[in-house]
Amino acid sequence: MSEAKPDYMHAGWPEVQVTNRLAVVTGGARGIGRAIVEAMIRERYRVVALDYSIGDDALAFAREVNEKAAIFKATALSFDKLDVTDSSAVQASIDKLVAEHGRLDVLVNNAGITRDGLLLRMSEADWDAVLTTNLKGVFNMTKAAIKPMMSQKHGKIINIASVVGITGNAGQANYSASKAGVIGFTKSIAKEIASRGITVNAVAPGFIETDMTAKLNEAQRAAMLAQVPMKRVGTPTDVARAVGFLASEAADYITGQVIVVDGGMTM
Ligand code: NAP
Repeated sequence: MSEAKPDYMHAGWPEVQVTNRLAVVTGGARGIGRAIVEAMIRERYRVVALDYSIGDDALAFAREVNEKAAIFKATALSFDKLDVTDSSAVQASIDKLVAEHGRLDVLVNNAGITRDGLLLRMSEADWDAVLTTNLKGVFNMTKAAIKPMMSQKHGKIINIASVVGITGNAGQANYSASKAGVIGFTKSIAKEIASRGITVNAVAPGFIETDMTAKLNEAQRAAMLAQVPMKRVGTPTDVARAVGFLASEAADYITGQVIVVDGGMTM
């Protein structure tokens, strides 16, 4: 296996110069979400990362970013606790952010979980947990976010799906169904609000090195890798770069699309 590309994080922060545009990233404390937070800052968005739990490591990361931004008298990154499955907490969180920042430019729905198992052995609780977090969470966040975006006649929503939402995967009926749902949701909402200046797209990662995939055993990893023509696992940065593109002006005329970031796994 060839070496994975280094993450953004290791490149350091020569300076952090943000505008007043606001990006909100769910599940931004670690994994792919953390790399997406970095990508948004590099696209010069201020970022609020919303997560179920926020570790010391995430807070240290925010301090590092904000120290580099302070020379421009800016706060580039803050973390807030939020459970995306709680619709009233989601509404209150978006209301508070819009009141504080006066705008909401980008929403990245990244928070997600897995509870894998073959269907015969899958509990109702594991089905519900995955569908509620991965699909209803996206509904909750998007519904709250499109109101301010519609008033400002501008916004970008980016949903993190998965290649298994396109191909299916044995042992992941709940997860694959949730991600297929995210893709259908993305295209439907894109059609509903295209005329209001809001784009809605999805990024479907393949096999990415995070805590989520660290649960796989060696045989499962080897089987996954054997399906990747580029012969390496993806990094959070690989996914974040595609999200950064969709959040940039370069993607202003792109909506309802799914960008697959999988090293060729599903071509
Ligand atoms: P991860 O390392 O497990 O991180 C997921 C993040 O989401 C964690 O910070 C987690 O918080 C947060 N989260 C979970 N439930 C939440 C909730 N109800 N409300 C708010 N935050 C919540 O996962 P990842 O690998 O970075 O995955 C990020 C996204 O990419 C997910 O949507 C995943 O399905 C998708 N994806 C990943 C891969 C992959 O290979 N890794 C492939 C395809 C798609 P806690 O720290 O509290 O748990």
